[in-house]
Amino acid sequence: MNLSEIMKSEYNRSVSECTNEEIYCGLLKLVNSMAEQKKAEPSKKKLYYISAEFLIGKLLSNNLINLGIYDEVKKQLAENGKDICEIEELENEPSLGNGGLGRLAACFLDSIATLGLNGDGVGLNYHFGLFRQVFKDNAQTSIPDPWITDNSWLNKTDVTYSVKFRNATVTSRMYDINVTGYDSTTNKLHLFDIESVDESIVEDGISFDKEDIEKNLTLFLYPDDSDDAGRMLRIYQQYFMVSSAAQLILDECVAKGCNLYDLADYAVIQINDTHPTMVIPELIRLLVERGLEMDDAIEAVSKSCAYTNHTILAEALEKWPIAYLKQVVPQLMPIIEVLDDKVRRKYDEPKLYIIDKDERVHMAHIDIHYSYSVNGVASLHTDILKNEELNHFYKIYPEKFNNKTNGITFRRWLLHSNPQLTELITSLIGEGFKKNADELEMLLKFKEDKEVLKKLLEIKDSKKAELKNYLVKKQNVSINENSIFDIQIKRLHEYKRQQLNALYIIHKYLEIKAGKKPSTPITVIFGAKAAPAYIIAQDIIHLILCLQELISNDPEVNPYLNVVMVENYNVTYAEKLIPACDISEQISLASKEASGTGNMKFMLNGAVTLGTEDGANVEIHELVGDENIYIFGDSSDTVVKRYKDESYKAKDYYTKNKAIKRAVDFITGEELMKLGDEERLERLSKELIGKDWFMTFPDFDDYVKTREQAYSDYENRMEWAEKMLVNIAMAGYFSSDRTIAEYNNDIWKL
Ligand SMILES: *Cc1c(COP(=O)(O)O)cnc(C)c1O
Repeated sequence: MNLSEIMKSEYNRSVSECTNEEIYCGLLKLVNSMAEQKKAEPSKKKLYYISAEFLIGKLLSNNLINLGIYDEVKKQLAENGKDICEIEELENEPSLGNGGLGRLAACFLDSIATLGLNGDGVGLNYHFGLFRQVFKDNAQTSIPDPWITDNSWLNKTDVTYSVKFRNATVTSRMYDINVTGYDSTTNKLHLFDIESVDESIVEDGISFDKEDIEKNLTLFLYPDDSDDAGRMLRIYQQYFMVSSAAQLILDECVAKGCNLYDLADYAVIQINDTHPTMVIPELIRLLVERGLEMDDAIEAVSKSCAYTNHTILAEALEKWPIAYLKQVVPQLMPIIEVLDDKVRRKYDEPKLYIIDKDERVHMAHIDIHYSYSVNGVASLHTDILKNEELNHFYKIYPEKFNNKTNGITFRRWLLHSNPQLTELITSLIGEGFKKNADELEMLLKFKEDKEVLKKLLEIKDSKKAELKNYLVKKQNVSINENSIFDIQIKRLHEYKRQQLNALYIIHKYLEIKAGKKPSTPITVIFGAKAAPAYIIAQDIIHLILCLQELISNDPEVNPYLNVVMVENYNVTYAEKLIPACDISEQISLASKEASGTGNMKFMLNGAVTLGTEDGANVEIHELVGDENIYIFGDSSDTVVKRYKDESYKAKDYYTKNKAIKRAVDFITGEELMKLGDEERLERLSKELIGKDWFMTFPDFDDYVKTREQAYSDYENRMEWAEKMLVNIAMAGYFSSDRTIAEYNNDIWKL
């Protein structure tokens, strides 16, 4: 690799004479040509990972790392007075995902390629992504987040398909992004786009004509579905994605000699959550069209599909009214009716039916009946699926259910985001952990090594200073790099309980006002987007932003406590925040967070978790032991029981618990009302007192107590560093390489 030669041949200039943009383009070309040379050998059986989201993040550095040329490129740039970080800054981050589910899909693609497995991602090419979050008057507003430029990673292909809706037939075109494996082969992420898309129809933030399908279909991920047109648009998008995918799969299989009865020998289709569910009836439809009997088609498809469940929140399990499906994709309804009919003839239990009495189609039920594998994403989550949420299905299909605890790619979340820590680890235990993450456990022998512990603290301090500088540049806020960085970054959702964190902040604010000052100052950082139609989530963001303003203007409190909400939290932000974190807030209501992967990224970077026994926190707790994690709150059993017997009354806690009452009353007290929007703050306060559906009050006292314990333990720097070290050492289990190896051994068998 010689950068000078590349820039010479591209621009006829030396590296130092080129602009950063030109260097970026040169590197993009270089990466793509190297990646193409490492294309996986075609194998008989191939995996298609279909997902509505792929939150891939910026790709330049990651590709350079995976291709093994990062250090060399960095060095050659530096020799010419160029800074690789400035060049990285030029890349747009595609916001093709909403949160953990999309980021998981991206980590999986990295691991699939790294393990040398033949597997491609399939999704949609949203031009404006989810949305870009902008704060205005202490509230979230949304604008489009365009990312496609002449120099994006997207490569146009010649592959096009015709996709038929009731009222229109449209053309879909496939675009590809190379997915490089770490010291391994290259796969593809296929993103389908509608040819007739028209970006100019978007006006006034993110609104557009929801009915103009031919122009809007691939503009946004998760367009507002608070009305019929919005919900219908989601069905258009889903069908467009899976019909394109199904045609691609059948074409590729036939080209390899598949006779369609033996589809399962050529293709395995992993359905990531229910958004791609229609791929099942669509494949069946296409097989019948190509001459198979219905029963044979159903069997071939069922043996090829596997489903991953990501949530037990009832409102998140998709149920589409038959009327909508008939409006959009009438050709699928006869197939769905056959699928439902087969279930009804076999089982006399409405909970198993695909079509319910209200004429709605339960997408997850199609997946469970007509795939050969159903997996949860952390061991607690899978247990809840088997024993509670999907118990009726588990009873009839015990063999289909399995657990695949989520993971993260260490290339992005350690090698790329924390080169300093990577270097320290390498100096202690060698390079092996980069491919075999379990080797991190070898770090345990340095548990009492003062020198190593000191270095860990120094690295943390340097990452905190880096974050401080980044926040000044990005958002013009200055944080105290000597404070405790206590971070909660994730989608905004009531079950994730940012509101509980906010109640703690109010509590702490009042304690400081009353003279109880913490030994070390605390900086609480939030990052979260809220779905534009999710009002209470918007209200919670409003509360946090108001608290930020209140405290930043209060000289009595701000030497000890500060709040910062980062604007437009995304993968790039996560890469800066996570390495700088001391305390990782993972405080979802027990039973509600399927797994979480943020928790794993933090652990790997030496943050200590403050969390409930929920999702993968349970497994983190088992691995690091009581000493190295802060667990609080009611158990998932208690919570499940409380929902079942409807015994929870928020009002009782509010009236009986003085600290809770004081914190909640502050939301509508004069200090915040002066800064904020009366309607928002009152609605939020009313929601908490009257409902508190995600049970923040029962956990409040324990949360405060445990958080204070963590802050007080932080004072003993050496003991804290030991906790950091144990967390890093035990994080190997959460490598997505391990997760993907399990998917392949148990489900895909590539
Ligand atoms: C990892 C990640 C998430 C998921 O975070 P959770 O805490 O597991 O919900 C969401 N968004 C981004 C940008 C991420 O990198």
